Amino acid sequence: MNHVVVVGAGPSGAAIAFLLARQGIQVSLIERETQFNRVFRGEGLMPSGVEALYEMGLGQCLEAIPSRTLDAWDFYIDQQRRMRVVEPQGRLGKFSTQIICQSALLKNIVEQTKTLPHFKFYPGWQVRELIRSDVSVCGVKATNGHQTQDFMGDLVIVAEGRYSRSRKLADLSLHQSQTQFDVLWFKLPAPAEVLCETAFTVCLQRQRQYAFYPSWDERLQIGWIVEKGQGKTSAERDWAEEFAQAAPPFLAEHFREHCDELEGPIFLDVIVGVCPQWSIPGLLLIGDAAHPMAPNRAQGINMGLRDAIAAANHLVPVLQNSGTLDRITAALQAIQSERLPEIAAIQHLQLEEWQKIAAFTASPFTYRAFKTVANLLGRFGLTQQAWLYQQRKLRHGAVSVRLEH
Ligand SMILES: Cc1cc2nc3c(=O)[nH]c(=O)nc-3n(C[C@H](O)[C@H](O)[C@H](O)COP(=O)(O)OP(=O)(O)OC[C@H]3O[C@@H](n4cnc5c(N)ncnc54)[C@H](O)[C@@H]3O)c2cc1C
Repeated sequence: MNHVVVVGAGPSGAAIAFLLARQGIQVSLIERETQFNRVFRGEGLMPSGVEALYEMGLGQCLEAIPSRTLDAWDFYIDQQRRMRVVEPQGRLGKFSTQIICQSALLKNIVEQTKTLPHFKFYPGWQVRELIRSDVSVCGVKATNGHQTQDFMGDLVIVAEGRYSRSRKLADLSLHQSQTQFDVLWFKLPAPAEVLCETAFTVCLQRQRQYAFYPSWDERLQIGWIVEKGQGKTSAERDWAEEFAQAAPPFLAEHFREHCDELEGPIFLDVIVGVCPQWSIPGLLLIGDAAHPMAPNRAQGINMGLRDAIAAANHLVPVLQNSGTLDRITAALQAIQSERLPEIAAIQHLQLEEWQKIAAFTASPFTYRAFKTVANLLGRFGLTQQAWLYQQRKLRHGAVSVRLEH
């Protein structure tokens, strides 16, 4: 059997390591952090991501972690609710949108994988270099403090996230799209009214755009949108007052009263793009390393999990039979061909959503027109259903992804 080195234990890396190791393939999973609970990990898991976890046999890992099932999507414009869309509760109530503790999920997946023979986990090891033979990548060099170790493999799967260093070392370019926004992330104790249900709430004013939801830790998680490049300069603003200005009245008071307990901002640089080529002989990129996703409508974890399923479908039969370099290379190209259409479709939809908000808030006139239309139509069930329908690919994926092995 072949040996696979997976770099990065985020959703994409943890999932592919599990799927390959479960089929008896030797896997080394290398993660630079020693703990999973780093400062920021996305928390929204759309129905397609939930379904992907069950498809992989990791449903129990999801059920065992702190999470909240979404009840509704609320849209406030100028402090008034203009539309509420009830979250469909899915088949058997299982596959609706979830707010999850991602670090707990990753820990559970890796713990479950550790019970499999031929799997080794290396936390605290950071990949620094690729090791190459004449014809292919054949391993990585990683460091842990003063120690250095070579991890040799027939295939290196790079799941290092959006800043992937191995992507650059492999000379695989990233075509970035023009994202015009970054995100500032905050936490605050949540009031009881917010905790009695789980609504993802969008608050819009012409100059203020943010979203919040009660998180798995019972606190309010707030994401504030800033123009690209403006985030790092805005730390000194009176954030509680900024939230209060665009918040529903019951919450505005809460923001002001609890301003001392506000944690943040954490600045999150939004990068969106796709690599025209995801592999070279001996190396494959998956997840954000191949196609960094925008944060809107929580797509990154889903796409990473779905990449892992597609990658396992193509790689398991080849690797179980000690595939030659040529066969492995063909499988890597097939993975990219299968995944690219969905990634392109989802990134397009994410960008479109963002462009709509930018257009609505472009001038006082467009903003007023948008508000009037939302006010008139938002209350009707048909409009709410139309919104859900228009979101279907973002909720359920743009193509069908099923695990074959
Ligand atoms: C503001 C913001 C909010 C977001 N919110 C959500 C959300 O709610 N839901 C959602 O689905 N997506 C969200 N996303 C996107 C999501 O975070 C990513 O798309 C997703 O985490 C990608 O998963 P991944 O496994 O490919 O990479 P990552 O989750 O980035 O994991 C990469 C892993 O590799 C490790 N690593 C990196 N370099 C090395 C190295 N050299 N050696 C060893 N290990 C290494 C890292 O420590 C990390 O654990 C958000 C993104 C942003 C910017």
